[in-house]
Amino acid sequence: MSLFPIFAKLQGRLVVVIGGGKIAEGKIACLLAADARVRVIAPEIGNGIAARVRQGTLEWYPKYFAPDDLNGAHLVIAATSAPGVNEAVFREAEARGIWCNAVDDPEHCHFYYGAVVQRGDLQIAISTNGKSPALAQRLRQELEAHFGPEFALWLEWLGVARELLRAENGNPEANKKLLHHLASQPMFARFLQETQGQTPDQGVVGSGSRGMGKVYLVGAGPGDPELLTRKAERILASASIVLHDSLVSREVLRMIAPAAEVIDVGKRAGRKLLSQEEINALLVCYAQSHAVVVRLKGGDPLLFGRAAEELEALRFAGVEHEVVPGITAGLGAAAAAGISLTDRRLASQVLFTTFSRRAEGRVPEWSGVTSDTTFVVYMPGPDYGEVAQRLLDGGLAADTPCVIVSAATRTQQELRWTDVARLQVEATLPAPALLIVGRVAARTVQEIGAAFWRGESKTLDLSSVAVS
Ligand code: SAH
Repeated sequence: MSLFPIFAKLQGRLVVVIGGGKIAEGKIACLLAADARVRVIAPEIGNGIAARVRQGTLEWYPKYFAPDDLNGAHLVIAATSAPGVNEAVFREAEARGIWCNAVDDPEHCHFYYGAVVQRGDLQIAISTNGKSPALAQRLRQELEAHFGPEFALWLEWLGVARELLRAENGNPEANKKLLHHLASQPMFARFLQETQGQTPDQGVVGSGSRGMGKVYLVGAGPGDPELLTRKAERILASASIVLHDSLVSREVLRMIAPAAEVIDVGKRAGRKLLSQEEINALLVCYAQSHAVVVRLKGGDPLLFGRAAEELEALRFAGVEHEVVPGITAGLGAAAAAGISLTDRRLASQVLFTTFSRRAEGRVPEWSGVTSDTTFVVYMPGPDYGEVAQRLLDGGLAADTPCVIVSAATRTQQELRWTDVARLQVEATLPAPALLIVGRVAARTVQEIGAAFWRGESKTLDLSSVAVS
């Protein structure tokens, strides 16, 4: 009788493990790796299992086995040192239609653990149907040597490429061919060479490839297409593929070469939201098949844009790359508001900041900042009250001027002049928006200046906007 090989989805499913010693511990790790809900039934447990109980990754019932312990279970592992108990567990499981594995006791098993080689999502499982665990072990070692850790990343890339091709709804036959080409040995050989920083051998790539491309991280500016650099314009016009954020304006997107593939990685590719890791992998992947790969980011690519992670991935993979700076939204907003962020009469420093990174545990330190600081607050979120509170907590005076700039340099541009106290109750302006906070952001500064230059005022007295 041959065994039926399957890979089971255990996520969120209850697996009951009877026994709390070393044998049980050895069987638990891979259950947890598959996100199973693991419940241990044992009067006592070893240190390894106890540590997991403390972490909250599994439940422990300190008791001897009783039939009701199998309520709700999908699988059961009998891992006690008492053969009689393992057999009792098996019989109860059999009666309930639950699959049981009694460790090292084939007679009381509905299924076996395979010898497994795992590289990320790549799993190769071996079974000899209990005839020769020694052979299974040798084969596992051989496979481990053959399929090194680099296969985990390689498979990630292949998975992302497949998702994207499916989302693009292109010709299924052509997609299938391309996916087979990407998974081919020559492409893997090329991948290995690139990740080891060696010069690619054109011979291994196959005739369909255009050779190793270059990735450009390009700043798209705040929205007005005329604010792009000439270099950015040239690169967009020669792009083979462009991966852009949702922040990039439609007018800028129109500057992309018509023949280029354009992918919005900021929103959705098909049903799946692309993670940063997936974007990193895609950039490296596309550099294998496209000459000019453009990662187009709103404003300047190096400010609040996770560019560091992308650059790291490109460096690691040995992919040629270049950063093309852009006009950051803060400077676009300052221009829109006609504010000099460093008006020498009112400010001596500018802080480009945000606090929307709490998920990463980084709360900015705004306390102790002096009143001659101009804050440019990116990603203020929908509730300005929180920003206002943080500024006040940081010691800023409630009457410190502030301007909210929405859609800077775009046709829908909107400005609202206010101060930190009133900011708490201001209605949210449409995204993208940012705040400029500081004495330079006083409407009166602009008005006094204008009056002075019109000759209506003899002195340029800005003391009224000076706050503590
Ligand atoms: N790299 C970008 C910033 C990315 S963070 C840059 O240098 O500009 C995204 C934030 O930038 C948005 O939440 C918003 O606060 C700000 N932003 C981007 N474009 C903007 C625009 N046209 N007007 C106002 N704020 C903008």
